[in-house]
Amino acid sequence: MTANSSRIANSSPPIASPNPRRLTRPIRVATVSIGGDNPVVIQSMCATRTQDVRRTLDQIQLLARAGTQIVRIAVDSIRDVEALKTFAGQVEVPLSVDLQESYRLAEAVAPWVAKIRYNPGHLHHHERSRPWQDKVRWLAEIADRYDCALRVGVNCGSIDPAIAEKFPAGETVGPMVALATMHAEFLESIGFHRYCVSLKDSSPERVIEANFAFARQMPHVPLHLGLTEAGLPPEGVWKTRRALMPLLAQGIGETIRVSLTVPADRKHEEVLAAQEMLRDVASGNLEFGPGERLPGLDIISCPSCSRVENERFVDLAEQVRQMTRYAADVPLTIAVMGCRVNGPGETDHADLGLWCGPNFVNLKRGSTLIGRFSYEEILPRLKEELDRLIAERTNSERSRIGQ
Ligand code: SF4
Repeated sequence: MTANSSRIANSSPPIASPNPRRLTRPIRVATVSIGGDNPVVIQSMCATRTQDVRRTLDQIQLLARAGTQIVRIAVDSIRDVEALKTFAGQVEVPLSVDLQESYRLAEAVAPWVAKIRYNPGHLHHHERSRPWQDKVRWLAEIADRYDCALRVGVNCGSIDPAIAEKFPAGETVGPMVALATMHAEFLESIGFHRYCVSLKDSSPERVIEANFAFARQMPHVPLHLGLTEAGLPPEGVWKTRRALMPLLAQGIGETIRVSLTVPADRKHEEVLAAQEMLRDVASGNLEFGPGERLPGLDIISCPSCSRVENERFVDLAEQVRQMTRYAADVPLTIAVMGCRVNGPGETDHADLGLWCGPNFVNLKRGSTLIGRFSYEEILPRLKEELDRLIAERTNSERSRIGQ
């Protein structure tokens, strides 16, 4: 596929939705409708650099051929917008743009996409004195003007500090639901109804709790379901099934994404996993994965996107999995993240966290930075910290039981 080839469309028929469905307000995303009595819509996201037009078009084609109905692309700069402009006209599958800290690019990018995802937890980074309501009103006006839908994309690792401080440290479900509800109620109050909401966490249990809670509070709002940082397959698929199937079986979830840590040329595996999950829920098969048992050691890792700072990130996540096999039964969490946008926040809740820069990897214990290490040095340093943590836990368990 090249920038001059024919238009990229999704030709897969929709998968029958799990029954019974709840009835939400339908929202249109170009030719696709989310919510109402429409089948659950499958989404995925490009892992290529947006400015690498050839690879991004290949990526969109890979995803569309597999059956993605909406493709999300990260945009962080005006150069990304310029790149998007060159290929948007060749793509029939509706494009969604992911704006993290760059919400001010909405006006430049809106003419080229059908949906804008903003993160309410990142709005405070710029124009700090401007109230968040002004920023959201502006985003809604842009969406209206350019015929776009919005997604209020709440993520456990980037909660608005003004909301987070109202909850006990480390809690994520309450703050996520409060933040999502606050933004949804505001959009309703200004008469903007063409939006959906997502509440993503790296814990399947917290995804279930947060989405059930939001669905109870605002049952008419379509939900985009996903488990953030699900990690490498097959465990990432099992975890996502564990998070999404109980919701889908209850008719909750109008659009879904399975996020997997795989290289760009394997991104269609996200779509295949989502299709299989929908088929299984529709047929009443709610098994999560082999044995429905997840290892004690939980490795969470982001799916990577245009923002990934070094493509060695995916290999690093795999090496972490291999290196830590000896501790598979230890109930600890290790997070591996691909960039500085979400890496610092989303490693805070893990026992040990790695977030990748261009030439170095930051190693953290909880929210404390231990240091920065080269890609060659990081694995032995991680092992050292892991062994230390295991020894500390063993000693404290021994003292607790009086040995
Ligand atoms: S952590 Fe960074 S690279 Fe990974 S998916 Fe999130 S934004 Fe993309």
